[in-house]
Amino acid sequence: MIIVMKHGATPQQIANVVAQIEGMGFRAHLSQGVERTIIGIIGDERPLNPDQILFWEGVERVVPILRPFKLASRDFQPEDTTVNVNGVVIGGTKVVVIAGPCAVEGREQLLEAAHAVKAAGASMLRGGAFKPRTSPYSFQGLGVEGLRLLAEAREQTGLPVVTEVMAPEHVPIVAEYADVLQIGARNMQNFALLEAVGKARKPVLLKRGLMSTVEELLLAAEYILLQGNHQVILCERGIRTFEPYTRNTLDINAIPLLKQLTHLPVIVDPSHGTGRWNLVPAVSRAAVAAGADGLIIEVHPRPEAALSDGAQSLKPDRFAALMEELRRVAEAVGRTL
Ligand code: PEP
Ligand code: MN
Repeated sequence: MIIVMKHGATPQQIANVVAQIEGMGFRAHLSQGVERTIIGIIGDERPLNPDQILFWEGVERVVPILRPFKLASRDFQPEDTTVNVNGVVIGGTKVVVIAGPCAVEGREQLLEAAHAVKAAGASMLRGGAFKPRTSPYSFQGLGVEGLRLLAEAREQTGLPVVTEVMAPEHVPIVAEYADVLQIGARNMQNFALLEAVGKARKPVLLKRGLMSTVEELLLAAEYILLQGNHQVILCERGIRTFEPYTRNTLDINAIPLLKQLTHLPVIVDPSHGTGRWNLVPAVSRAAVAAGADGLIIEVHPRPEAALSDGAQSLKPDRFAALMEELRRVAEAVGRTL
């Protein structure tokens, strides 16, 4: 449940309420809005009596939270969360575009892609060093060497780096090089991994599982938040349906729905969402129009030679053209790009 403090409740009254909650064995989550303070109670709250809490000084209301996710819920925190990655703010008015190759394949490929996406106006660089491939015979990524190359690309371009972490034991090394830790769709319910990135002090980009509901995505985010890491960015990347013409079906509904249910920023991956480069521009425009806080787009200097996901990767010139189109859509919905 949440405790809504009275307008003008004193810091002492707020501290007392927090102390009471903690004294009863719960954790308190403070959300200090402009108007008033909201205190969330974390833990199995069944033994709590809301009528009693109403007698605590400074308390205005006690509201039960009926949703299974709490920290991620808008009821818990009405204001949008913004995630600041080396000065790039996700969840604010600017639509943030993250772009780069599916996988880091080598120095030349990565640097070429990084400079191209930077020139086109991207705010962050993506690139997988540890790749979750369906087949064990497919290119698995360059591992730590890939992380080093990403750090070099950041040095050259100034773009913060997003890269996937696949195993809890890899979190320290990936966090050493990356600015944002990506949890891939296949790992959305790897709870040990979610807890490990929850303990890290780096923003997390959490991708929706291939067959996961919106609620399951939010509960996965809850695992990370519960460990004390509040810098979580959600990503709609398409779900598996009966439609074989596209790799996945991008759930456009999920964008406004997530924005209603949670305060966390929501970005969209039109590359995995479609699996086809020539669908990526239209779906990107739709995502921005629907309220996405950002996009993560695969761009490769030579998609035909890519070691993974070439079919869905844009060439740099097409990406640059798309950025121009997106700028106009962003403006039309009251945002910048
Ligand atoms: C990726 O971003 O390259 C990737 C593997 O994405 P997903 O986990 O969404 O399939
Ligand atoms: Mn990919």
